[in-house]
Amino acid sequence: MTKGNINVSVENIFPLIKKFLYSDHEIFLRELISNATDATLKLKHLTNIGDAKVEYGNPQIEVKIDKKGKKLHIIDQGLGMTSEEVEKYINQIAFSGAEEFLDKYKDSGKDSGIIGHFGLGFYSAFMVAEKVEIITKSFKDEPAAHWTCDGSPEFTLEPHDKTERGTEIILHIAEDSTEFLEEARINDLLTKYNKFMPIPIKFGTKEVNVALPEDAPEDAKPEKKTVDNIINNPNPAWTKQPADLEDENYKSFYRELYPMQFEEPLFHIHLNVDYPFNLTGILYFPKMTNDLNIQKDKIQLYQNQVFVTDNVEGIVPEFLTMLRGVIDSPDIPLNVSRSYLQADGAVKKISSYITRKVADKLKSLFNENREDFEAKWNDIKIVIEYGMLSEDKFFEKADAFALYPTVDGTHYTYEELFNKIKANQTDKDGKLVILYASNEDAQHSYIEAAKTKGYEVLLLDSPIVSHLMQKLESTKENITFTRVDADHVDNLIKKEDTKISKLTEEQKTELETLLKEVIPAEKFSVQLETMDSESTPFMITQPEFMRRMKEMQQTGGGM
Ligand code: ADP
Ligand code: MG
Repeated sequence: MTKGNINVSVENIFPLIKKFLYSDHEIFLRELISNATDATLKLKHLTNIGDAKVEYGNPQIEVKIDKKGKKLHIIDQGLGMTSEEVEKYINQIAFSGAEEFLDKYKDSGKDSGIIGHFGLGFYSAFMVAEKVEIITKSFKDEPAAHWTCDGSPEFTLEPHDKTERGTEIILHIAEDSTEFLEEARINDLLTKYNKFMPIPIKFGTKEVNVALPEDAPEDAKPEKKTVDNIINNPNPAWTKQPADLEDENYKSFYRELYPMQFEEPLFHIHLNVDYPFNLTGILYFPKMTNDLNIQKDKIQLYQNQVFVTDNVEGIVPEFLTMLRGVIDSPDIPLNVSRSYLQADGAVKKISSYITRKVADKLKSLFNENREDFEAKWNDIKIVIEYGMLSEDKFFEKADAFALYPTVDGTHYTYEELFNKIKANQTDKDGKLVILYASNEDAQHSYIEAAKTKGYEVLLLDSPIVSHLMQKLESTKENITFTRVDADHVDNLIKKEDTKISKLTEEQKTELETLLKEVIPAEKFSVQLETMDSESTPFMITQPEFMRRMKEMQQTGGGM
């Protein structure tokens, strides 16, 4: 047996590790399973290229709880390590990696919320274990090795009689971490971090029904059999080629991602790029409501099929955080703060790539099946309008497919609308006046009045529409949005066209005097002449700018 000292410069790194990542203790399991996965994939590679002359087989990773012994086992059938390799990779490299990591991030990391996502590796086991053993047998023809360390810089290394290839890590769970001996807790962790890792992970067994033979009698009871409980799907949809997937595959992957979500997504976008950065993923457009406080944090970020976080702020543009799905990229730096992320060149490129892909997909949906696109418009407009407001690049692209529905249910693109109304909807200064209603019922009579005059009236009712109108007014030349009940709709309405009120002059004067008493003149104006209907003898209008100012004050803070 060898006894030795891990070469430590800090007096004792283990208490530091433990204290440091307090809130992130649970990541130890992901780290150990990542190592087991790496070891298995390395062996696969070596057998493929002929450098390892062993049978690769169908390796699994197993996680086992020994509640009585207070131990947690992580067992793989990967390439294993010789004693020299344990000495080198565990005592020296893993250690210096952990030390370097701590050194670098112990001050900055705490509040960034992202630290601990990667980097601490094998030594993160000491966050939850008072003693760690490694029993490992290399695929090379050498005896197995047994390494033990109790969280001090001292370790022992001796031969072991293990004969199967691979590595078993045994964690002697510390008194304050016994939650990690609970089946439910481990199951949650495995589901959270390892649900899509590339090697099958076994956690216990489960009972399943054996399929009955065709000719079985109707009252035959299905037999049960016990099978391995594999917690992951090693080949998730996003790792496949879009050409190999049907619409149904995307839908079932959506259900796999969100088992509690019963509504189907409207459509998906498969991301797949390997230059100048690596990124794969699938984004889904769920049905959106007009509620801006829609739940975000629904896109999951993975790194080589290992779950990292469901907070992708800074990586995808804000307006797309309303989408769902997964992004997998080894090129996103994870041990850094959000503000650093946003400034990172690679991350910027990723963000604009995603924006472009989403815009392109929307464009092709629009081109390929406009009817369907129009039918979905109400459920997706909030994302598109928000994107047009916040990302100029997106605005440029979305201009071709953003829709402006009218109160009659026609959907115009901006260009179509422009061509339709340019001849007869200008004010006296030659400005194009786009009329819109925000509430069909409340503004009904105004809408009808405008329609009688042959004007198009849009129905714009999303909560950010006043911002979008302002954006359009500042981007497009010489246009103005005017709500149908605003006072200067008057300017449009040519006097000779107007229907004359049925009220007598006397009645009008009477009514006007009365109304002026109750309605503050600086806020509203009263219109009597233009109305002909009995049910609506007069209109009260409000200057457009005043109403909009009020609206912007209401929604402005949240944007
Ligand atoms: P990293 O995974 O980033 O290299 P770790 O601290 O997680 O850092 O692991 C250090 C090294 O220990 C690995 O690079 C690998 O060589 C070795 N190792 C860890 N776990 C295993 C395992 N299950 N099988 C084989 N080698 C392993
Ligand atoms: Mg590792």
